[in-house]
Amino acid sequence: MSAGLVIVGGSYAAMQIAASAREAGYAEPIRLVSEEPVLPYQRPPLSKGYLTGKFTPAALPLRAEAFYRDNRIETLLGQRAESLDLAARRVSLAGGGSLAFDRLALATGTRPRPLPLPGADLDGVLFLRSLADADRLRERLGGAGSIVVIGGGFIGLELASVAAAMGKPVVIVEAQERLLARGVSPQIAAFLADVHRSRGVALRLRSTVRDIRGANGRVQSVVCGDGETLAADLVLIAIGVVPNTELAGRAGLACQDGLVVDRFARTTDPLVVAAGDCTRHPSAFAGQLLRLESVQNAIDQAKTAGATLAGQEKPYESVPWFWSDQYELKLQMVGLVQGSDRHAVRGSLEQRRFSIFYFRSGRLVAIDSVNRAADHMLGRKLLALGRSPTPQQAADESFDLQTLVAA
Ligand code: NAP
Repeated sequence: MSAGLVIVGGSYAAMQIAASAREAGYAEPIRLVSEEPVLPYQRPPLSKGYLTGKFTPAALPLRAEAFYRDNRIETLLGQRAESLDLAARRVSLAGGGSLAFDRLALATGTRPRPLPLPGADLDGVLFLRSLADADRLRERLGGAGSIVVIGGGFIGLELASVAAAMGKPVVIVEAQERLLARGVSPQIAAFLADVHRSRGVALRLRSTVRDIRGANGRVQSVVCGDGETLAADLVLIAIGVVPNTELAGRAGLACQDGLVVDRFARTTDPLVVAAGDCTRHPSAFAGQLLRLESVQNAIDQAKTAGATLAGQEKPYESVPWFWSDQYELKLQMVGLVQGSDRHAVRGSLEQRRFSIFYFRSGRLVAIDSVNRAADHMLGRKLLALGRSPTPQQAADESFDLQTLVAA
């Protein structure tokens, strides 16, 4: 009997590789090995509704147990893959034992970037990546008197919006001169900074942390690079992530800040595919290698990986998109804003309902929408089709952008 497919990972990409391989006709055994003790679950609510209780634990799993059973996907939960022997086609597990495979899929994701500072290990200093992390944060949030968030990225801002809405004093310490420097345009960053300030969140931009102080093992304050001391009985470190590529790298697979894959999600070993946050892939849209940290990337790339495992060729060519919920704002981003040289605003910043269209050499490259979901959906179509309004058309609300899709 064939040893089948072993998938290492326990989140969106891992689940979707299994689902898509089956859909594409892969008939051999599939085993999914996840370090986490629970079935793959939704991560976006962990920094939003899960913290307030609006989103219940029961609503988190991506697929119910029956899905795995019906599709003959064996799940090995709470098991860490320790090493790979590609020549012998075996994955060794941390608790002892090993799994044979004919094909291997790596969806090892990322982990929070550590902050190597004195005090980072004090009680009350938390990270947010897993459900267990979210449970710890949720437990502390209600009783927190003052919160410092280190890092003004997506997690930091989403947590700040939840905590500020609960009436908690929050300070965000961000190393860059603006929020979300890697993810959004300066215009959106400035807009979000105003929104957060208007809700009472204090921002310390161009600011780093020198150390984290406490007493009796519990955190009490954060000392910034300029000497300012911020009181804190809860500190969230959210300064980005690092891809989990050690397993692949030690086994000899090519890695460059991400496990290198081609547009069919194949690694440098023909038997091994990979998908999700841990990979660096050739993006047809961007014309370069990218490592994307998003649900869209994990799912779409995993669909390609699943097809590859079943012997089909389905290149990964999606336009990237992301979203973030903060307060009553739904921020949706499609395309890649980096390298744009012009922008046009459609709608009203004052009313907090607008989209910013970004252009490079006159071509549309990205749209960021705030509370304008229809623009976002249209933008996905325009960018996938390679169609572009002019900046004037984009800014003119009387111009029907739909005509460009239909054309
Ligand atoms: P992130 O979005 O990459 O933002 C981290 C921010 O912290 C960056 O601006 C970073 O600047 C800054 N930073 C780095 N070192 C710092 C330091 N020592 N002091 C202060 N600031 C520092 O990462 P994240 O917020 O931690 O999120 C982690 C992951 O979760 C990401 O993959 C993110 O995409 C994902 N996530 C996404 C969403 C969403 O899409 N809505 C929501 C939640 C989480 P540099 O760029 O200079 O490093």
